[in-house]
Amino acid sequence: MFYNSTRNSGVKVSSAEAITQGISAEGGLFVPESVPELTLDEIKAVGDMKYADRAAFVFSKFLTDFTEAEIHYCTDNAYSDRNFETESIAEIAHLFDGTYMLELWHGPTCAFKDMALQILPYFLTTSAKKINLDKKIVILVATSGDTGKAALEGFKDVEGTSILVFYPEDGVSPMQKRQMKTQEGGNVGVCAIKGNFDDCQNGVKAIFTDGDVKSALDKNGMMFSSANSINWGRLVPQIVYYVSAYAELVKDEEIALGEKINIVVPTGNFGNILAAYYAKHMGVPVNKLICASNINNVLTDFINTGVYDRNRQFHATVSPSMDILISSNLERLLYLMSGKNDAVINDWFGKLASEGKYEVTDDVKAKLKDEFCAGFCDDDQTKATIHDIYEKYSYTCDTHTAVAVKVYNDYKASTGDETKTVIASTASPYKFSAAVLEALEGGKSDIDEYAKVDRIAELSDIPVPAALADLKNKPERFSDVIGKSEQKGYVLNSLGL
Ligand SMILES: *Cc1c(COP(=O)(O)O)cnc(C)c1O
Repeated sequence: MFYNSTRNSGVKVSSAEAITQGISAEGGLFVPESVPELTLDEIKAVGDMKYADRAAFVFSKFLTDFTEAEIHYCTDNAYSDRNFETESIAEIAHLFDGTYMLELWHGPTCAFKDMALQILPYFLTTSAKKINLDKKIVILVATSGDTGKAALEGFKDVEGTSILVFYPEDGVSPMQKRQMKTQEGGNVGVCAIKGNFDDCQNGVKAIFTDGDVKSALDKNGMMFSSANSINWGRLVPQIVYYVSAYAELVKDEEIALGEKINIVVPTGNFGNILAAYYAKHMGVPVNKLICASNINNVLTDFINTGVYDRNRQFHATVSPSMDILISSNLERLLYLMSGKNDAVINDWFGKLASEGKYEVTDDVKAKLKDEFCAGFCDDDQTKATIHDIYEKYSYTCDTHTAVAVKVYNDYKASTGDETKTVIASTASPYKFSAAVLEALEGGKSDIDEYAKVDRIAELSDIPVPAALADLKNKPERFSDVIGKSEQKGYVLNSLGL
């Protein structure tokens, strides 16, 4: 299996090269040249494996330059009970009849990003060895809150790497900020940006493709890579849990082998839902992929109209990990849907950069409508949904997951579709305790973040994750705040260049 770039179909690299580079030199994203297919029997057999082996099976289809031993080295280290609080790694909870919560937040930082970022460091260091790359890998991350912490935990003290994380100063929850500021490890750095997530991400993307920075790194035996979902090594682990969830539901006799399911994903950068799209095209029987947004509903409009327009007000919401107006991974989807037409991708994404807007062809619009449905909700509806499902089903969910539940309820009401449905539950409710507690109790309280955590523990039956409980006693190590134009200088400085 080779990988092409969305902006130059002539690029052809191995998975080890795609993973170490992160992003292609001309700014495109790496995509596998074909989607490997699984038979229903193969999918069924996945249900009898433990999670690490499920992952190894899926990876063997995509990372064909890795040996079996290399893949198992990565999966066995990443998906063990040392790192995850549940044995099944990706736990399925039954919400109501035919509706399942795929809980992806039992890892060390309590968000679904751990599913990929626990394994990415193993992929990266293994890839570097495979291609005889004798350079220090510098990971630059832009985060809307969860990726940063998950990447820091994944890469801390990993030999041959260092990591620098940028987050929007006022764009993350108090718990997320505290998680990052107290990060341990000798090879880590964290810095706040006076701006929003898109500013952080644009800055990081620009640094990645800056010729001067690149050659400065090169001279000093270093290279950049990315832990954001623009890196294929971030995306491929996310395909696993959709294959795994389907196999699990078949095994539990919740669905028949071959029966279609809907998948609902609370979406920001379009990475998680793109992984579901890949799972579908590998052979997991899927009816609709339902894309749920908060009030930053650029994707809802795009899926419904085919016009992507980021020229709109940016809103800070109670689901901050979805406060994004430029969804990077959409580029991969559109590349596939346009028949790998790198010319139109350059045209559209050039327009996005210059005018903030582009419109896809009628053919692509039809494909979008065929595979996806989209909806959004605001903060009040998010909180009302948390309250509602707590009352009805004694289930406490976080703000991002609540957006997905609300959009799914709307979808079901308007279509009457009774297809069984998996909802991606992307974070622990404790990570967004202020909004979750307000929703549960029906009003704001001014107790501190940790008291809120304790209060949620009293109300719900979910134990407080050890990693969040420990935060209280950790010293803050990182307090830098810089302007959005200062990112490049900051990076060079931090690396001593
Ligand atoms: C990152 C994140 C999302 C959005 O996922 P994308 O892959 O960026 O679409 C949703 N919920 C939570 C809790 C997240 O951390």
